Amino acid sequence: MAYTYDPENIFAKILRGEIPNTTVLETDHALAFRDIAPQAPEHVLVIPKGPYVSIDHFAVEASADEIVDYMRAVGQVCQQLGVDLGSGGAGFRAIANAGSNGVQDVPHLHVHIVAGRPLGPMLVRD
Ligand code: AMP
Repeated sequence: MAYTYDPENIFAKILRGEIPNTTVLETDHALAFRDIAPQAPEHVLVIPKGPYVSIDHFAVEASADEIVDYMRAVGQVCQQLGVDLGSGGAGFRAIANAGSNGVQDVPHLHVHIVAGRPLGPMLVRD
């Protein structure tokens, strides 16, 4: 089974400039923007510019340049928000939902950086 990418997903439209966003950071291979429905005082999405459905797709098929640039972008966003541990920030949660069990709504890889308050347990038990 190969990964299939839907170029009409909403984040692809953001990358093409068809839908506005509140950009926090742009690099060669990544874009970070504020989530439209923030779940904490800080809620930023970091996406690769390439057509990757999920973090496993990206990890398996992206180039080394893309992976390095993307991971550095995640770190830079945390620094920009002042939540990175390196500068004594209070921390954050990085979340990458994937597929149906992961409850991924938008089929373009995005890491949520959620911060600004204590975030509670990682998962709520059923
Ligand atoms: P997920 O369930 O992990 O796929 O998360 C998708 C996220 O995308 C949700 O937190 C949405 O609030 C967010 N979202 C959807 N549309 C937009 C948009 N146009 N701009 C910014 N964030 C969006």
